[in-house]
Amino acid sequence: MDYFDRAGGGVARHDFALHTPRSPNRVLGLLIPGNPPKSLPVNTSASHSSPDVVLVGAGIMSATLGVMLKELQPDLTIEIFESLSGIAEESSDAWNNAGTGHAALCELNYTPEKADGSVDVSKALKINEAFKVSQQFWSYLVQRGGIKTPQDFIQRIPHLSFVHGAKSVEFLRKRHEALAANHLFADMKFSTDRAELAEWMPLVMDGRSEKQAAAATRVEVGTDVNFGALTRRMIAHLQSLGGVTLHLRHDVLNLHRNGRAGWLLYVNDKAADQKRTVAATFVFLGAGGGALPLLQKSGIPEGRGFGGFPVSGQWLRCENPELIARHDAKVYGKAPVGAPPMSVPHLDTRVIDGQKGLLFGPFAGFTTKYLKNGSLLDLPLAIKPSNLVPMTAAALQNISLTTYLIGQVLQSQKARVNALREFVPTARDEDWKLLIAGQRVQVIKKDAKKGGILQFGTEVVCAQDGSIAALLGASPGASTAVAIMLELMGHCFPEQMGSLPWQSKLREMIPSYGASLIKDVALDQRVNSWTRETLGLVGNAERRTTNEKVLSSTL
Ligand SMILES: Cc1cc2nc3c(=O)[nH]c(=O)nc-3n(C[C@H](O)[C@H](O)[C@H](O)COP(=O)(O)OP(=O)(O)OC[C@H]3O[C@@H](n4cnc5c(N)ncnc54)[C@H](O)[C@@H]3O)c2cc1C
Repeated sequence: MDYFDRAGGGVARHDFALHTPRSPNRVLGLLIPGNPPKSLPVNTSASHSSPDVVLVGAGIMSATLGVMLKELQPDLTIEIFESLSGIAEESSDAWNNAGTGHAALCELNYTPEKADGSVDVSKALKINEAFKVSQQFWSYLVQRGGIKTPQDFIQRIPHLSFVHGAKSVEFLRKRHEALAANHLFADMKFSTDRAELAEWMPLVMDGRSEKQAAAATRVEVGTDVNFGALTRRMIAHLQSLGGVTLHLRHDVLNLHRNGRAGWLLYVNDKAADQKRTVAATFVFLGAGGGALPLLQKSGIPEGRGFGGFPVSGQWLRCENPELIARHDAKVYGKAPVGAPPMSVPHLDTRVIDGQKGLLFGPFAGFTTKYLKNGSLLDLPLAIKPSNLVPMTAAALQNISLTTYLIGQVLQSQKARVNALREFVPTARDEDWKLLIAGQRVQVIKKDAKKGGILQFGTEVVCAQDGSIAALLGASPGASTAVAIMLELMGHCFPEQMGSLPWQSKLREMIPSYGASLIKDVALDQRVNSWTRETLGLVGNAERRTTNEKVLSSTL
């Protein structure tokens, strides 16, 4: 399941106008049917504010939604509340995630084998298209001057899938055939040639037995993305547009409906040790692992029954500059039997703050925290009468997963390096150091047949009236943030999304908006030329030969 299969709640059916000027009780011209305001335990000396939009959390999701909304409607006022003392310090930060621009070029879990032996590529096509939507929006921001230097957050790094063993080699061959039939993957190369494989990924082939059947696919124009740097640049751009305030070290503690005029949020300013209330017409719970507890506190019926299963992550980070220099790719393998899909092992070139790095992982783990900086009480406190059945059912169905995760936590450094040797046969303990990655909270939701299920995708939950939305889950994650936010805005602001000014602005920001890159070969080529040129992803050879410099205006 992924965000394409969302359960999302209702869309606004009333006359919803996301516009200013504001009046004290109609911030966005929004009339929300609902309960009378409940009183919050407010410190009377505290300050109050009433922005149009509140974004909870300063990660990639809030940053993306904030910039999109502000570009669509420049007179919006926005307040961002972030619990930590910096932007993007949880999952969005560079070393807390793998930085893979997920375009389904290398992740084998996006192309399952069907019962008849054929390979299902439908999810891979959608994810590839969604990543291209993100790349278009980032290119728009670069052209607009909102992001000055794209190389600060995105790099061209080849994406490879690597397998060994005759059965897996056969699967990869079939997968390649199925994917390369669509123009989105036409550049993908397949090889079983040892010399070529050694050229593509020397660390993976060094010391590997000649008897072992091995194969790989390679796409030259894959990416490494520093989502932390991107988030910080997007929020800086947002602030430069005016009417936007970022509050660091501010915890959103609670929220209630504000009668017919939106939401009242109860916020703790940790630095000043002061509580305050904030009235907003639209609220986005982009709090990562903190979104589920806030969704529960909102009391919206669409949020009932959701739970969360935390999965922590760890990497081995390479400390040896010679090894780092020899590897130039993101190489994804097959998940071990019993492992969750996000545990697909990969050997990953990273480029962070201009420095090349190398990581291997992730090693999953079990903790009861919902955020890396969260509390061990997060999981127990999220168990409510409304989600008791789904949480219990999902726990019972996933005992083997929990056992696997606990086994991962108890792994020694020796065992981890042994796992790495499946990938890098000559790996030495002393070259690799353990690093704690970000926290994922997998979505648990109601299921008519099973009582509850655990899913590994992303879920957008919106109130029927469109006044609040929450993002749950983690994958494919940051890479598809723009497509997720388009979907969210479709639920929450259906009329504005259908209006001429928004439609025309959306096409300026995302030239393929409303069309299918999966079906339209020529459009896909034009989008590729534009985004690769603008984001600096064109290789030297291509730069010399290409005379296509297609700008967004011609798309
Ligand atoms: C190990 C790992 C590897 C990953 N690899 C990839 C990858 O290769 N490619 C990819 O595209 N995606 C990847 N992801 C997923 C990606 O990192 C996430 O989808 C993305 O960062 C989520 O962004 P976010 O803004 O929703 O959450 P976050 O970045 O976690 O931001 C949420 C923010 O909300 C704040 N917050 C929480 N509660 C409150 C509150 N009550 N009040 C105020 N602030 C609050 C937090 O402090 C935090 O800063 C990975 C994730 C993990 C964990």
